Amino acid sequence: ILEVKNVSKTYKSGNRVLTVLDEVSFSVDQGDSIAIVGPSGSGKTTLLGLCAGLDAASNGSVKLVDKSLESLTEDERAEVRNQHIGFIFQNFQLLPTLTALENVMVPLELKKNKDARQIAKSLLEKVGLGDRLGHYPTQLSGGEQQRVSIARAFANQPKVLFADEPTGNLDTETGELIEELIFRLNKDQGTTLILVTHDLELAKKTNRIINIRGGKVQEVGNG
Ligand code: ATP
Repeated sequence: ILEVKNVSKTYKSGNRVLTVLDEVSFSVDQGDSIAIVGPSGSGKTTLLGLCAGLDAASNGSVKLVDKSLESLTEDERAEVRNQHIGFIFQNFQLLPTLTALENVMVPLELKKNKDARQIAKSLLEKVGLGDRLGHYPTQLSGGEQQRVSIARAFANQPKVLFADEPTGNLDTETGELIEELIFRLNKDQGTTLILVTHDLELAKKTNRIINIRGGKVQEVGNG
């Protein structure tokens, strides 16, 4: 479902060129779960963004859900994301002018789902926020915002879920709830899971671990 081939990413700063990813290749099958690990600044978030079509590679190709991302326009990439992909970001990225309920409804409405409100409500109940539907992001704690972002990521029953440090900012109990929800989605619905984490215990719960170091990836086998 994901094929990354010889992907490089460089950033220019002044007259210096920083190579973050250097000819990286790997692939992920439908229903698989993988963790991307590596030191801080090694390019994990960058790699996740390239795989998900949020950013373009400097070189190489990324095929996601049978689409070659580099051959698509920005609008077409957005369409692939809206149809097939769920995201959980490190900093949540909720829309500040919308309530919890409305944030979760966004992806459903993009797909013109008539039951958006009902589905969003039941998802928020599942993550334990049934009594926070009308709260705006600023009125929610960090852990609650993360749970809203997870409900939003699940809303469209995505084929692939990308998660960047999904439990990074949460207390142990909330982190465990989130983990359970993510892996249940993987098991029950065959959602492919691609997550970035510093937490080796979380990484070990996936089928495969990919380690980034010095711009290269190294597969370190089963979790
Ligand atoms: P962390 O674990 O700390 O979140 P990471 O492995 O996710 O780190 P990235 O966020 O992918 O690392 O960043 C990789 C490197 O690329 C860093 O050195 C960062 O400074 C650099 N970088 C990221 N985005 C940009 C950008 N837009 N312009 C220039 N440099 C960037």
